[in-house]
Amino acid sequence: NHLLEIKNLHAGVDDKKILKGINLTINPGEVHAVMGPNGSGKSTLASILAGREGYDVTEGQVLYDGKDLLEMDPEERAREGVFLAFQYPVEIPGVNSTYFLKAALNEIRKHKGLPELDAMEFLQLVKQKVKLLELPEDLLKRPVNEGFSGGEKKRNEIFQMAVLEPKLSVLDETDSGLDIDALKVVANGVNKLKSKNNAQLVITHYQRLLDYIIPDFVHVLYNGKIVKTGDKSLALELEKRGYDWVISHEPVSA
Ligand code: ADP
Ligand code: MG
Ligand code: MG
Repeated sequence: NHLLEIKNLHAGVDDKKILKGINLTINPGEVHAVMGPNGSGKSTLASILAGREGYDVTEGQVLYDGKDLLEMDPEERAREGVFLAFQYPVEIPGVNSTYFLKAALNEIRKHKGLPELDAMEFLQLVKQKVKLLELPEDLLKRPVNEGFSGGEKKRNEIFQMAVLEPKLSVLDETDSGLDIDALKVVANGVNKLKSKNNAQLVITHYQRLLDYIIPDFVHVLYNGKIVKTGDKSLALELEKRGYDWVISHEPVSA
């Protein structure tokens, strides 16, 4: 069984067609990067996988572990082992970020038939993950994302991913001004958490991110379609030649 199978996915907002037939298959152990110029549909793809409202899927399907992902609500996706960045509360003053994380983790564990972790056990796990990712310990003492910089939000996100141990992680690195340190935090997390049992889908327009992550597959999204797939050398080629090299022979469509 494949972990994720996106088949001929067409989707849009209101009358606007954005995704025009996406095919993408992800197996356990693989890291996939989806790249593409601004406006190509990357965030729309991430949003649909996350189950965000407002998007209409008009054709095709998405199977996760053989099940219809699009039928699941966001909580169900999380329970089934899909990690979607920013799924958890963004800014709640006075509430410690680990509070939500413990609840989310225990929800997942219950679903797997594992016993819930008590406060002590959870703390042990948290410390272990902080060490693994080489994160600053004071990250945990701050209220959920309150007053966090872009880089700190990324740290928090990667930390959540480490604790929840998802089968599939979907990271959308949007163009909201991430500096090189924040990119390194993301890359380090992806590299350290990679295993033969999980897969990661990293959606980004930052070609530089792929200086730090070595993806098994690189896909170029353009005008709602994957127009080219390759290995990490495709990312290097894109860095040298730009997107025009890939898309120049694509027919312009409405
Ligand atoms: P990317 O992440 O690759 O920059 P997006 O998925 O954000 O691309 O957007 C793809 C296209 O769809 C763009 O033309 C964008 O303006 C349009 N779009 C995205 N979201 C919406 C929306 N909620 N309403 C209308 N148009 C949208
Ligand atoms: Mg954009
Ligand atoms: Mg985007």
